[in-house]
Amino acid sequence: MGIHKIIEGSERFRKEKFKKYQHKFEKLVREGQQPKVLFIGCSDSRVLPNLITNTGPGDLFVIRNIGNFVAPYKPDEDFHSTAAAIEYAVSVLEVEDIIVCGHSHCGAIGALFKKYKLEAPSLIHVKRWLSLGESAKEFVLSHMPPEASQEDMLDATEKVSAVMQLENLMTYPVVKERVEEGKLFLNAWHYDIESGEITCYESEAQEFIPITSSQEGAC
Ligand SMILES: [Zn+2]
Repeated sequence: MGIHKIIEGSERFRKEKFKKYQHKFEKLVREGQQPKVLFIGCSDSRVLPNLITNTGPGDLFVIRNIGNFVAPYKPDEDFHSTAAAIEYAVSVLEVEDIIVCGHSHCGAIGALFKKYKLEAPSLIHVKRWLSLGESAKEFVLSHMPPEASQEDMLDATEKVSAVMQLENLMTYPVVKERVEEGKLFLNAWHYDIESGEITCYESEAQEFIPITSSQEGAC
């Protein structure tokens, strides 16, 4: 879908769908946004945070990047967009939950297992960014039987990586503080593109289980 279709879509949105949300948007402008959840997802065009959670305007504060990675806390003079958004969501918006949502067929995770090296100067940032998934890959390679299929390896790495990003989140002083106070909860999710199913990490059983609203606090 090229940009012409996108422009047509925006016109149709304004004419047809906007009315449905108009009051909601006006209220959100009047009162400001107060999302309770920070959703950290992949930039992948097949993973749409609001669509897969049936949420709407004002519900999710969203960060999307390649691989849904969280770089560890590193207060320096560089530009850290993911870190800045995390700080804002936690310190200013005071979100109550952070969801790190991995997904099936993630190209970022897949690239970790590819033989080719990302040496081109035009991929310098991609190469550096993907290194945030290396520890998940190493963990899976050392814990899964060598006869495991490539598909199972990738699935496991997508999931382990989401959990490891929660550990990276805990390196942020404000995140750690609010988690320890019981005011903030960290969740690792995995979204399956083909089935639409979301599983979440259950820390006691150390496995991903289907998410369900009937088991409040199960994950
Ligand atoms: Zn992805």
